[in-house]
Amino acid sequence: REEYPDEIINSVCPFCGVGCQTEVHVKDDKILKIDGRDGPANEKRLCVKGRFGFDYIHNANRLTKPLIRRDDAPRGWDIGVPDNDFSQFFREATWEEALERAASGLSKIRDEKGPKSLAGFGSAKGSNEEAYLFQKLVRTGFGSNNVDHCTRLCHASSVAALMEGVGSGAVSAPFTSVAEAECIIIIGCRPEQNHPVAASYIKQAAKDPKKHLFVLDPRGQSLVKYADKHLQFKPGRDVAMLNAMIYTIIEENLYDVQYVQANTEGFEELKTNIKDFSPEDMAEICGIDAQTLRETARVYATSEASLILWGMGVSQHTHGTDNVRSLIAMSLITGQIGRPGTGLHPLRGQNNVQGASDAGLIPMLYPDYQSVENEEIRTRMEDFWGMELDRQKGLTVVETMDAIHDGNVTGMFIQGENPAMSDPDQHHAREALSKLDHLVVQDIFMTETAWHADVILPSSAHAEKDGTFTNTNRQVQIGRAAVSPPGEARQDWELIQELAQHMGLNWSYTHPKEVFNEMAQIMPSLNNITWERLEREEVVTYPCSSADGPGTEILFAQGFPTASGRGKLVSTALIDPAELPDKEFPLVLTTGRLLEHWHTGAMTRRSQVLDNLEPEAVVFVNRLDMNSLGIVAGDWVSVTTRRGTVSLKVRQDREVPEGMIFMPFCFSEAAANMLTNPQLDPFGKIPEFKYSAARLDPL
Ligand code: SF4
Repeated sequence: REEYPDEIINSVCPFCGVGCQTEVHVKDDKILKIDGRDGPANEKRLCVKGRFGFDYIHNANRLTKPLIRRDDAPRGWDIGVPDNDFSQFFREATWEEALERAASGLSKIRDEKGPKSLAGFGSAKGSNEEAYLFQKLVRTGFGSNNVDHCTRLCHASSVAALMEGVGSGAVSAPFTSVAEAECIIIIGCRPEQNHPVAASYIKQAAKDPKKHLFVLDPRGQSLVKYADKHLQFKPGRDVAMLNAMIYTIIEENLYDVQYVQANTEGFEELKTNIKDFSPEDMAEICGIDAQTLRETARVYATSEASLILWGMGVSQHTHGTDNVRSLIAMSLITGQIGRPGTGLHPLRGQNNVQGASDAGLIPMLYPDYQSVENEEIRTRMEDFWGMELDRQKGLTVVETMDAIHDGNVTGMFIQGENPAMSDPDQHHAREALSKLDHLVVQDIFMTETAWHADVILPSSAHAEKDGTFTNTNRQVQIGRAAVSPPGEARQDWELIQELAQHMGLNWSYTHPKEVFNEMAQIMPSLNNITWERLEREEVVTYPCSSADGPGTEILFAQGFPTASGRGKLVSTALIDPAELPDKEFPLVLTTGRLLEHWHTGAMTRRSQVLDNLEPEAVVFVNRLDMNSLGIVAGDWVSVTTRRGTVSLKVRQDREVPEGMIFMPFCFSEAAANMLTNPQLDPFGKIPEFKYSAARLDPL
């Protein structure tokens, strides 16, 4: 029997960067169901996560009271008790006691050891307002720039290359531009799993026989069915493949001479450097024959409009920034940017990773990507916030873990992130969290990270809060509270403010809209976007040049926001992955997500439908590797790298090539990140999640 809602609240999906607009059906303060709304990024569509991933909100194991660690209770998730049985480790506290304990612990470390002894991880799942307040607390309350979030683990290398090349870290065009593109390149991403509604637009476009879709990926994927060609290149060899295409474009005079002369810099250096990358020389290295490399390059360069979309298969490498530099170079030398159907689109992972980055949850940048090391900018921010600010950039995510091991960081505040699952080399990361003198965690569940905390502040799920969120298309949208937080759980923005007040800051926001208004004063990207407008219109794309216009979908029609006004071409070199397979570790381990589970699984593994669909940890293995190891689907195996070993079941998968295995990183019982390589890209500081040398042994 169908239940009828008391009310239907308009909001946005809490999972991926597509930012689907939703209708949340509510009865008796409980969500009955979620439907798709006619938003610009989804047109009523939703994927399985958006439609069925909501019952975690009403999960019985939600945190409902502030908690304080009992004296001498051991730290860490590996204690081995379920997440509703923490009473011997934590005791319930009043809000006043918990906030006082949280703030005094952080203040004591700041005052005795200095501001740089503290660090904070904010969240890409939270709203723009929460991200802004969080970085403001770290910068003005803790006193340093040691603030980061999970963009460091997903698209930091993309942002580094885009800022350098085109002067903006955001996408140049929305993914819906596939409708106008004649050639679409999908590289290092699996939209059908990770951005399913975006994938529906790609499939729709690819049905047109006049269009060309190329899928460039070491793994197979379902979009290949719609593609002209699947370039299944060798893992970690992106630069060899992309530079061979750039070589072809230049050698065969397919580049846009006029565009290059008028809009770019660095072409002569690129032309000289690219001489070493002929398709004939690169074929063996990247595993794609020269003719295919040349043909793909020709179609991309000569199409009326060509668009590149990429994901973490590109960015999560020690040469991730170089991978993106090569993509930018392809786009700039052909003039395939700044027009409808062209451009560069890194598909963002979490629902608000674009907005959290824009809001300044980054150790080297204030809101709107303004450098903390630029004196003029810093002085402006000091005037605005009324406080002297740190002059040096802060620590990134993995650097923070290293600094804890070195004794340089001893206190942390972590809001809504789960580094005990998401960071590479988990033994190292969890050991670091256990070493902290004082850890405050603000979250909705007893996550693997919360088990390491001294104080836990229960906060709100997405459907329990008002706030703005910015999707992968630069579309700022409004999310609305549909139900109340359980028990004594409180709004995240309120808790960040309470902590700030307890640390001596004079904050007095009464609603997220006041925070948004403050952001708009220092973020030119929010020009002409107001809270009231978003309440009325639901969505505005930034940048927006008028109070009633919809915003600018296509960037760079008239040059680039770089110092010279030109796009910068940056040459790249062949760099091996940080560790290569050898006799002891003959396979390549790559990690990522599943359609049904989101990131570390904190929400989706507590959503019944989604967890029923993918209930257990598995490693995906090619049939040929299974045969040579004498294993069959469903067998238990151990996967070992230089960082550790985990045990889990085998799933036979024709999409992983021979010699490669894939593990999703959402299963805490077989945490893939126990195995991953923490080596960093020198520019984006992103770890090499996509390439670790591994061994698989039958159990
Ligand atoms: Fe949510 Fe992304 Fe699925 Fe849309 S595509 S419903 S935003 S998870």
